[in-house]
Order: sequence, then C-alpha cells, then structure tokens
Amino acid sequence: MASIFSRIAAGEIPCYKVAETDQYLAFLDINPLAKGHTLVIPKQETDYIFDLDDNLLAGLVLFAKKVALAIEQTVPCERIGIAVIGLEVPHAHLHLVPINSLHDLDFTKPRVKITKEEYAQLAQEIGQKV
Ligand code: 5GP
Repeated sequence: MASIFSRIAAGEIPCYKVAETDQYLAFLDINPLAKGHTLVIPKQETDYIFDLDDNLLAGLVLFAKKVALAIEQTVPCERIGIAVIGLEVPHAHLHLVPINSLHDLDFTKPRVKITKEEYAQLAQEIGQKV
C-alpha cells in the first residue's frame, strides 16, 4: 500500500504545499514542533533515507536547502534545524524546523497548534521565497 506521503504527493490527500519539483515535494508538518516546520520528501517512495539512490539523496538535500532558506526568511528564528526520524511514516523525509535552542528540536515536546489560516499563509509565504 502506498505511504501517506506518496498519497500526498499524488494529490490524493491534501497538504499545505510549500514547493515542489518533478522529483521532490515540501509541505508543512501536520503536527509541527514550530510554525514553519516543513517536511521534504522525494516523490519516489523509499522507506529508509539511506536506501535512496545517491543522486536522489543529493537532490533532496539541495532542494531542502532552498526550502530552509525560504523558511528562515519567513519565520523569525536563529536557524533551521534538520532532522531525520522516520519512525512514524515509512517514506524518507527531512524535517526542517525553525529553532532557537537545542530544546526546539526535541521531538518529544508538545507540538504547536496552528489554525488553517496560519497554515495556508505560512505555506504561501515560504513557497513564494523558494
Ligand atoms: P517521523 O516518521 O519522522 O517520525 O514523523 C513523521 C512526521 O510526519 C510527524 O512529524 C508527523 O506530524 C508528520 N505527519 C504524519 N502524517 C502526516 C500527514 O498526513 N500530513 C502531514 N502534513 N504531516 C504528517
């Protein structure tokens, strides 16, 4: 069965899209650690990030760099933290999270609540800077 992220990439499940290319997609995390928390995926479904083909992995990081710089210009923060967890969704992805301290990248901490309007505005504002 296709992963939830493959279904998002196929447009079967909605997301707050930030940016995409033919190979990659960036969209806001539905349960974010911070405003602007974005997931970056290869559209091709592979569970474990280190099973990705070298070129696809390199392209993922380069695409994530553009998205991270756009998040940084949109959400006040010290920098953009990057993490790979992958314990919940078996489809390789990078987490891009605006951070000000080490604690901000603690995935066990309570997530922030964002309204639909805020999600839509964040996705649009970040997306137009990518
Ligand atoms: P991980 O697999 O890296 O442990 O966590 C998966 C991440 O994907 C979590 O931060 C979770 O909030 C996010 N997530 C899970 N399902 C969805 C979804 O359907 N839409 C979006 N936008 N994010 C999701």
